[in-house]
Amino acid sequence: MSAVDRRTLLKGVAATGAVAATGISLPAHGRVAKAVPPDAVGLLYDTTLCIGCKACVVACREANDKKPDTRLSGGLWDMPADLNGQTKNVIKLYKDADSPERSYFKAQCLHCVDPACVGACMIGALQKREFGIVTYDPFFCSGCRYCQMVCPFEIPKFEWEKLAPKIVKCELCNHRLKEGKEPGCTEVCPRHAVVYGKREDLLAEAKRRIAENPKKYKGQKAGDPPKVYGETEGGGTQCLYLSHVPFEKLGLPDLSSEPVPHVAQTVQHGIYQGFVAPVALYAVLGAVVFRNRRKQDAASGETDGPAGGAE
Ligand code: SF4
Ligand code: SF4
Ligand code: SF4
Repeated sequence: MSAVDRRTLLKGVAATGAVAATGISLPAHGRVAKAVPPDAVGLLYDTTLCIGCKACVVACREANDKKPDTRLSGGLWDMPADLNGQTKNVIKLYKDADSPERSYFKAQCLHCVDPACVGACMIGALQKREFGIVTYDPFFCSGCRYCQMVCPFEIPKFEWEKLAPKIVKCELCNHRLKEGKEPGCTEVCPRHAVVYGKREDLLAEAKRRIAENPKKYKGQKAGDPPKVYGETEGGGTQCLYLSHVPFEKLGLPDLSSEPVPHVAQTVQHGIYQGFVAPVALYAVLGAVVFRNRRKQDAASGETDGPAGGAE
């Protein structure tokens, strides 16, 4: 078992351990892996084309009404160190200390085909919806942060600085898609390093690029054959990557083709078989949601209903 597989497994254990503290069990039935939805859309990001201009970071903020993150620069520059409670998309620079090898890397939700975050979210705040987009509805969020623990790519972030914090992650600009626009990040990329489209078309395009120039692209580790990251990893993702440095250098984990929820649930079933019916857990979490919501409404003076998420 690789280090990354172990980490993924431990995350599953951590999540189930947190549930164990409630004294309540998780569902003990098997599950069937989700297939790629026929209407699946996504992104293709090619490191060989990215120049690190970060226009996509700015466009993502504007598209999602997020304030610049100036904390690292003492209030001067927008320079997020990573994804965080006000940053859904970030460009990182990988630089090898002992060689000229370097690469930019665009981090955002990969919109997994069978998302671990959706499996972990007991009350449906995270859902896989139309076009396979993984959406988030803050109304239903209890703030348990299980989604953070199980995501193999460490994508969901928490608004720690807010009184009523919620989860923040890319929702593939589904509000823009509904208006017939493309995602903010792809609209502005001057090099088309990140492009939006149907997953099957993006996958075909990625494979075409590899076939045209196999020496240009890399696999998971140095010496591995080139591959499209996300074609099968963790059950597949709708955001795909091509890279001229090994994917492990970019922080993309070496996952098998088995969906991550399978791994987490296998552990859960081993630990929790025979415990109390899961309906009790839903009841507890539901109570937490509505208690939090009441506090939030009292603080903001709002009484509106559900918000967010693609319908
Ligand atoms: S990358 Fe993480 S947050 Fe995004 S869909 Fe997959 S498991 Fe969920
Ligand atoms: S799809 Fe939208 S939310 Fe996601 S990274 Fe691009 S601009 Fe940001
Ligand atoms: S806008 Fe395009 S080229 Fe610029 S950093 Fe983002 S992905 Fe790279």
